[in-house]
Amino acid sequence: MPKKLFIKTYGCQMNVYDSARMTDVLAPLGYEPVEQPDGADMVILNTCHIREKAAEKVYSELGRLRPLKLAREEAGDSMILAVGGCVAQAEGEEVRRRAPWVDVVFGPQAYHRLPDMVIEVQRRAVVDTGFPVETKFDSLPGESSPRGPAAFLTIQEGCDKFCTFCVVPYTRGMEYSRPVADILAEARRLVASGTSEITLLGQNVNAYHGDGQNGQLTSLARLIRELAEIDGLKRLRYTTSHPRDMDNELISAHAEVDVLMPYLHLPVQSGSDQILAEMNRRHSADDYRHLIDRIRAARPDIALSSDFIVGFPGETDADFKSTLKLVRDVEYASAYSFRYSQRPGTPAADRDDQVPEDVKAARLTELQGLIDQQSRAFNLLTVDQTLDVLLERRGRHAGQLVGRSPFMQAVHVDAPDSYLGRIASVRIDAALPNSLSGSFAEEGSSEDQSAHAV
Ligand code: SF4
Repeated sequence: MPKKLFIKTYGCQMNVYDSARMTDVLAPLGYEPVEQPDGADMVILNTCHIREKAAEKVYSELGRLRPLKLAREEAGDSMILAVGGCVAQAEGEEVRRRAPWVDVVFGPQAYHRLPDMVIEVQRRAVVDTGFPVETKFDSLPGESSPRGPAAFLTIQEGCDKFCTFCVVPYTRGMEYSRPVADILAEARRLVASGTSEITLLGQNVNAYHGDGQNGQLTSLARLIRELAEIDGLKRLRYTTSHPRDMDNELISAHAEVDVLMPYLHLPVQSGSDQILAEMNRRHSADDYRHLIDRIRAARPDIALSSDFIVGFPGETDADFKSTLKLVRDVEYASAYSFRYSQRPGTPAADRDDQVPEDVKAARLTELQGLIDQQSRAFNLLTVDQTLDVLLERRGRHAGQLVGRSPFMQAVHVDAPDSYLGRIASVRIDAALPNSLSGSFAEEGSSEDQSAHAV
């Protein structure tokens, strides 16, 4: 009888990838994924430490799960409750102190050992937040199920940059790059199981420097060119990048590698040189502007995205205006912006010049208004154009599919399920606030339409 596994994933795409790999690791033990925690034999919270009050949200969720676990036990069954990811790494034993009904606490580098933990937990609670010498990637099995038309593939983890607001170097550890051969093998398996688009993931993905097949270190640009040779792989993306690791070779790849999509998420965080220095970003606002110029020279139609933090300690009105100016200069297709919030253990958290919350809120509203304007303008440019859309999943309405344009825009199209997984030519009819809607590019029966799908 299969055992039910429920995983709740918080945060970034790397956690989405990790959750899928946890499912793979537990599949040989008979665990099958389910959509709800009720009645599950194992519940994993795969947590993220990036957002505000991340740990408190996890403790609240653990409080909600407690009655479910007790109900199972009263019925003579059991439920293993596990907390993984970056909050688990940061909190460690504290999770069990505050929520003693948790059975397993494991960090992002330890999930390959979940089968051992499941056995060990029969005897005692497990806390495994070490950074093992062996890499988890060497111990992961193949994928237990197809990943769908668009899949993530983690190629790099950890970060050595130590931005003063960020917990990643403490929770994910130092930079590690997977060997090229392992990545190619995983990519080939994904394509063979029906994946057309792969997004290469890393906390600092363009710092990638994995062992190559020729025994030399391989850059991200070189890796992209090797992946582009895989028959059947139609689209490649990568995220998240640091401006300092955006080298000429990688910029050239955007001009020369057809399957590399014209979209780049390149966080800048602030437009103020003073704040950038205090964040330890090690580049200026003008360095970033010049970089954007070089990227656009290589790939003029590229859609650019970024992350911004407003209200970093000591940020003045003038600093914030510099951020608005940078946004106006660059003109983004999309961007994510957040209020600065203190992360315990990071240098910026201890500063005594924290910006008041109401000031942060007002700045965030202004910045988001500007970014929304730019996103709308970018989306409007695509109206009446025909775009290749990879149809990834069903939409909210019956008979509707949702896919992504090359520029990462979500596109809604009326189409039968048989179109799932195809790249179709879609004429964009309307730009909605956060997505596009379109129709198949040429009139005709569904048989004719299928001629436009590749
Ligand atoms: S480069 Fe990114 S992951 Fe690394 S410390 Fe800075 S913000 Fe965090």
